[in-house]
Amino acid sequence: MNKVVTVIGGGPAGMSCALWLKNLRFLPIIIEKNKQLGGGQTISPFHNTWYLGMPGHTGMELAKQFTRHIELEVIPTLFDSKLKSITSGENFQISTETNQITAKSIVIATGQRYKGYETIASLPGSDELLLSPNVCFNPGGTPIVHGQKVAVVGGGDNGLGTARILADTAQHLHLFIRSEMKGFTMNEKGVFQQIESGKITLHKPAVIQRFKVQGDNIQIIFKEGNKPEQELVVNYVCFRLGFAPNVEEIVKLFDRGEVGCLELTEGGYIATDRFLRTSIPQVYAAGDVTNYRDPCVVTAVAQGAIAARSVEEDLRSDD
Ligand SMILES: Cc1cc2nc3c(=O)[nH]c(=O)nc-3n(C[C@H](O)[C@H](O)[C@H](O)COP(=O)(O)OP(=O)(O)OC[C@H]3O[C@@H](n4cnc5c(N)ncnc54)[C@H](O)[C@@H]3O)c2cc1C
Repeated sequence: MNKVVTVIGGGPAGMSCALWLKNLRFLPIIIEKNKQLGGGQTISPFHNTWYLGMPGHTGMELAKQFTRHIELEVIPTLFDSKLKSITSGENFQISTETNQITAKSIVIATGQRYKGYETIASLPGSDELLLSPNVCFNPGGTPIVHGQKVAVVGGGDNGLGTARILADTAQHLHLFIRSEMKGFTMNEKGVFQQIESGKITLHKPAVIQRFKVQGDNIQIIFKEGNKPEQELVVNYVCFRLGFAPNVEEIVKLFDRGEVGCLELTEGGYIATDRFLRTSIPQVYAAGDVTNYRDPCVVTAVAQGAIAARSVEEDLRSDD
């Protein structure tokens, strides 16, 4: 039997899945579009205090540790690889610009990306904003805002966490939330404490209408509840606009190659059963690309293992 399993995406989920597949006597091959493994952790300079057994390690350091493990296991990895086509038959044929793989199964572990400029592109003034050095979309970016007036846009856990960190050193922080706060309780409580102590002003429900860049400053024109339009001038704006799953390319390739219809959830993530089988036989998904509620390294690594076990279970009868 062909024992090759293609793992698309080399973040924590993809690496964990490949490791488990190797231990289960399969031949995993990781296809990674970037020049390095590690996924979301490669842009996190923060201590990952959530991962058991690795106290004091930043996300970037964890990514390096995971990568080292994959190298020690000599698991083949195609870096900087763009998928060109995927077709199915007795096996899957997966082509990149430089390689052709014949695989029995596919595990999709393409993660999610943070929403950036495209989310605000329709707002007047957003083009100018993009040229300003005083704007940040990357959740791993930690601007130095000592003594400055700062706005954070976004009421998810990332927005709240960023607001809490920056409010400590900023002159003042304005937090813009469109509807409800959707963060961990500790971050919601922390923000309310900083509101009480006068460090944060909360604008909720607030809809930003447009921006104007004025030299080093940024003017935000917004509507808050039923109040008339308001203006605010700040020195720095941090956008924390949420995340989107990396599925579009795979869905397109599956359609084009007549591999089948990959069922998605309402939010566009890959729908799976509890053992991470997708709607297409021999295709599995693991990590953030399936998991919008608890996206983190622990769940990604665990899902990689579960997907590998499902591959084994489904192919056992073929042995
Ligand atoms: C700034 C930041 C801080 C974070 N802090 C923490 C933290 O403290 N603790 C914690 O547990 N989690 C944290 N996370 C979340 C954590 O990084 C993710 O939950 C985790 O990396 C998810 O792993 P994954 O493998 O599912 O996806 P990802 O890490 O996103 O990896 C997906 C991989 O797939 C690749 N890929 C995508 N599309 C394709 C394609 N078409 N072809 C080939 N490859 C593709 C990507 O390049 C990427 O390498 C943080 C994330 C960020 C961004």
